Amino acid sequence: MTPTTATATDRVYNFSAGPGVLPESVLRQVQEDVWNIRGSGVGIMEHSHRGKLYDQIIAEADERCRKIGNIPDDYAILFMTGGATSQNHLIPMNLMPEGGTADYAVTGKWAADSQKTAKLFGTSRVAYTSEATNHNHVPTQDQLDLDANAAYFHYTSNNTIVGTQYHYVPKTPGDVPLVCDASSDIFSEPIDITKFGLLYAGAQKNIGPAGTTLVIVRKDLLERQPRTLPGMLSYKVFADKESRPNTPPVFPIYVVSLVFQWILEQGGLEPIAERNKAKAKVLYDALDASDFWNAHAQPESRSLMNITFRTPSEETDALFLTAAGKEGLVTMKGHRSVGGMRASIYNAFPAEGVNALVSFMKEFERTHG
Ligand SMILES: *Cc1c(COP(=O)(O)O)cnc(C)c1O
Repeated sequence: MTPTTATATDRVYNFSAGPGVLPESVLRQVQEDVWNIRGSGVGIMEHSHRGKLYDQIIAEADERCRKIGNIPDDYAILFMTGGATSQNHLIPMNLMPEGGTADYAVTGKWAADSQKTAKLFGTSRVAYTSEATNHNHVPTQDQLDLDANAAYFHYTSNNTIVGTQYHYVPKTPGDVPLVCDASSDIFSEPIDITKFGLLYAGAQKNIGPAGTTLVIVRKDLLERQPRTLPGMLSYKVFADKESRPNTPPVFPIYVVSLVFQWILEQGGLEPIAERNKAKAKVLYDALDASDFWNAHAQPESRSLMNITFRTPSEETDALFLTAAGKEGLVTMKGHRSVGGMRASIYNAFPAEGVNALVSFMKEFERTHG
């Protein structure tokens, strides 16, 4: 493949929910740095994680992350492995005392997994569940039944599979730490990290390739570790060792840092959020304009990242997916628990791709409606 055209005409619009699309300029930079990074004569994947160059890479990742999210020094930024799923056990292990209890809002498959896994370590209370309506909404603050004695309250800010998103940050009673799975909407809009005790995100949806998980955690929580843990499972150890208690995922961390740099070049999270809102509006407006299309999420809970919708029948959904694929609009099949389509339009997904989808939808409706 020839990699050096100015604009990619050899790529399609990829609506994948994860791993998701990456910025073109990041992919170009990666192509160069795999061969020889910063004139070192060695590719990024071949550098020692204890060498000077990698010291610099990991320091930059931390610095850029702090700049984007305005993250103060009393928070640690960790790059871990094991995906967002591993956080389901790391969080209770590190934050829930023996015999303790924690609250969970169950708003989709990932949130349900988090709640179930925590049972291994204590009582995991369901503070809200949207299961009865196939998770087509997220709760309002008033609907959350929160325990003032909980070790923390865990919620999933964006439900990747069903396409719902909280458009507010829940408040917890007293000083109960707020814990958030932000895997599919991290850095999609401005964030006030001081409202959170811990926030985590698998990189592969909105900030990089699979292989590392970003954890941002208030440092005082690290001191509370309620049980003896293997070092590889301890937030405190990761914080003390700059995410390098062993060989870290050097390549994914480096790519995440390039995505952070890209976010800064875009002007930070405010312009990113404006763009995300505009992209999602184009698609939701198209869905609302006709009875042919049905959006899964209730209007006030609609995700700006993952947009789930259907045609009048499963057969027509299948025809739509095949026809869209032929037009270079790919990976839109919905998760089997929801059916229909899911268009994931993360930060790096171009507005042109959303416009192309909407034009195609209009044409499809004209011929199949
Ligand atoms: C994808 C996803 C996960 C699972 O991530 P892994 O990195 O595969 O473990 C968890 N939570 C949310 C919200 C997700 O979107």
